[in-house]
Amino acid sequence: MSIQAIRTEENLITAKPYYEPIGDEVEVFAAAYRNQLPVLLKGPTGCGKTRFIEYMSWHLQRPMITVACHDDLTAADLIGRYLVKGGETVWVDGPLTRAARNGCICYLDEIVEARKDTSVVIHPLCDDRRLLPIEKLGELLQVPDTFCLAISYNPGYQSVMKDLKQSTRQRFVALEFDYPAPAKEQLIVENEAAGIDRDLARRLIQFGLMTRNLKGSGLEEGASTRLLVNAAKLMVAGIAPVVATDSAVALALTDDEDMLKTIHELSRSVF
Ligand code: ADP
Repeated sequence: MSIQAIRTEENLITAKPYYEPIGDEVEVFAAAYRNQLPVLLKGPTGCGKTRFIEYMSWHLQRPMITVACHDDLTAADLIGRYLVKGGETVWVDGPLTRAARNGCICYLDEIVEARKDTSVVIHPLCDDRRLLPIEKLGELLQVPDTFCLAISYNPGYQSVMKDLKQSTRQRFVALEFDYPAPAKEQLIVENEAAGIDRDLARRLIQFGLMTRNLKGSGLEEGASTRLLVNAAKLMVAGIAPVVATDSAVALALTDDEDMLKTIHELSRSVF
């Protein structure tokens, strides 16, 4: 067995991830996958995009490779490069090439953060050609049908500099994610923070909604589902609710003293 095959197996999700579907995203993703169409997940941070891809990886029985994109990430980081190892120069596949060779799901998280040259390698992968140009090896890789490219993008952080270009976005089937409706979000919190009191969970969701109403009035984003789950976990561990929301939510959202006070007061009014 090749080293690559071993590596890929490590990314196979064998235990069913807990995922609460919000709409028909599971069916749409599965249909896109069967048709070799790449998928774009749009939505704010912490609303379940990564968990969804993990669930789809398990559901479709395809290993997944995740790349957290950042502003230094180049095409070479995705494709691969020659490295000197023990005095010898060896080629090492990057995560995108590894996923393409092995028919994995490749998840590029926050794609707009990456350097612009990454779109050069993504584009030919996303149309009928399904090719990955590996320039340094002089190789044009025809990717297998089992390969799937998924990218995520938060339109809320959109700026002129960091917008997803039409030429890129129009190659993808898009799925929109948002914070779940209150009843569903409560169910998620109760599942993720096992042992949380029902009434506390209900109040926490109410508090979360209140912080989301502050968006645009001093807050860039309200509490995400992730932050509410974190607060619930602190509560289960015995931390008082207002302390839990201060630590897990307020301080995670802002450094502004007035805003911290406002969120603290919201929490006191709810708990
Ligand atoms: P994103 O990738 O959108 O930033 P995540 O997928 O990491 O967000 O979600 C953050 C957390 O929120 C997850 O770890 C999970 O606890 C919870 N979560 C959000 N949405 C769901 C959902 N639909 N089903 C299950 N858990 C969810």
